[in-house]
Amino acid sequence: MLGLMQDQPLLISQLIEFAARHHPDGAIVSRRVEGDIHRYTYRDAAARSRRVANALDRLGLGFSDRVATLAWNGYRHFELYYGVSGSGRVVHTINPRLAPDQVAWIANHAEDKVLCFDMTFLPIVKAIWSKCTTVATWVALCDPAALPGDTGIPNLVAYEAWIGAESDRYEWPVFDERSAAALCYTSGTTGNPKGALYSHRSTILHAYGEALPDAISLSARDSVLAVVPMFHVNAWGLPYSAAMTGCKLVLPGASLDGKSVYELMEAEKVTLSAGVPTVWLGLLTYMKQQGLTFSSMQRTVIGGSACPPAMIRTFREDYGVTVLHAWGMTEMSPLGTVCNLKLNQLAADRESQYAVMAKQGRAVYGVDMKIVDGNGEELPWDGESTGDLLVKGPWVVSGYFKGEGGQVLRDGWFPTGDVASIDPDGFLQITDRSKDVIKSGGEWISSIDIENIAMAHPAVAMAACIAVPHPKWDERPLLVVVRKPGAEATPAEILGFFEGKVAKWQVPDDVVFVDSIPLGATGKMQKMKLREQFREHRLPGA
Ligand code: ADP
Repeated sequence: MLGLMQDQPLLISQLIEFAARHHPDGAIVSRRVEGDIHRYTYRDAAARSRRVANALDRLGLGFSDRVATLAWNGYRHFELYYGVSGSGRVVHTINPRLAPDQVAWIANHAEDKVLCFDMTFLPIVKAIWSKCTTVATWVALCDPAALPGDTGIPNLVAYEAWIGAESDRYEWPVFDERSAAALCYTSGTTGNPKGALYSHRSTILHAYGEALPDAISLSARDSVLAVVPMFHVNAWGLPYSAAMTGCKLVLPGASLDGKSVYELMEAEKVTLSAGVPTVWLGLLTYMKQQGLTFSSMQRTVIGGSACPPAMIRTFREDYGVTVLHAWGMTEMSPLGTVCNLKLNQLAADRESQYAVMAKQGRAVYGVDMKIVDGNGEELPWDGESTGDLLVKGPWVVSGYFKGEGGQVLRDGWFPTGDVASIDPDGFLQITDRSKDVIKSGGEWISSIDIENIAMAHPAVAMAACIAVPHPKWDERPLLVVVRKPGAEATPAEILGFFEGKVAKWQVPDDVVFVDSIPLGATGKMQKMKLREQFREHRLPGA
């Protein structure tokens, strides 16, 4: 016997129409690439999303055709999310920080029909348009007046003219909720990038999960700054969960330096923000230098790479902001776990709470996880055993776009490539990406543990711990450090800092100072590059 409830597919168009109807005056504020601040409402966004849908119909785009974006976080990008997916096409967000050739490769692989770009990225488009064999229409996200006449790019239109010619009435189509809605390529640290293809269903379930109190607890009382780019796993789903909850949404455009982020947070009374640790490093440095405090910020979601415990403490103790440490990946839409204390931990002392908060947190309902040993046997949740982390759930990929990489699931579970432990309360702790693990004399050393300790040293701005080949131990850890401006510290002082914090054999053999650590397109440390750079480094005693 089937239930007698309405069988309504979960579609992305419903999110924006819900927001327009129930939160018509809910604000969306964008710092535009033009430099000024743009303000409008969910009602306006819905109307313009419908214009986008009409414009795509006029181009004759078919169901599931791909529309690419090369754009910062802003209202036009937001409209594309809804107009493209809502009308049955697939919004394909491309990371503009990739090399132009990689952008062209991805656009060709995805067979994008339309590519919409912020004017900031005109140089990329000029460099690649002739190589993108499937793109028939180029849309510059600007007013017609801002479009130079001599770009040489064929079929180039200004977004405002393109959608301006269309009606803001549109009958959103109803189709199978499992249809593709959005496409995002992984950064491809190994091999070619692979596409994660999200569905309407997965996106809406993810938005529900994300908004839960034990996830990021999003509501119509929040003003949310999405620092995480809309080209990085759909800004971690915020454009969808924002429309679902009707929160105020603040989109920072291209200005992600500490000063710009701080000013926007204060001006828009931001209560919640989200981004990778490197962005917060810039913000905290700026605030410290200027002696500033927050007037409205309550919590910030930090993920994408491990958030150093020292940062969690600084946010809490110096600025009264709770860090929600989160873990996930492109293949997971991206949310897997978020760190919120449980009832039994609320009464614990501060230090015990910090120890929990440094972990990546508990699974959001919808995601299941397990850790396994080398033979695939499940390991206990004792907080000690570490193994390969596998996940499953309705917003986890079942395979990659066009079957790249072949069969990726193992008995229905997706292998994350991360190494982790899980404690009896269900808190996940990532110790490494499997390719970053340091194997010393048959034992594993967690590079994240070592970096977290180093980051607590007052002279250290950023630290990466990498494996260097060693004649006796196979590999030994080397610590690569960027010092804070003006800070002095010798290698011996930094190594001394590890005393009593980890076992002696886990302490790095050496420290090298560098001016900067290479960051990838999503702001993560590129340890592979560092490993290459320091492959020949002579460790003391080696
Ligand atoms: P890519 O694989 O392209 O770098 P993702 O953004 O999908 O891009 O990265 C996912 C990976 O990032 C995870 O598998 C994990 O290794 C790492 N990661 C994400 N969040 C955290 C976190 N809070 N702590 C440690 N590692 C994290």
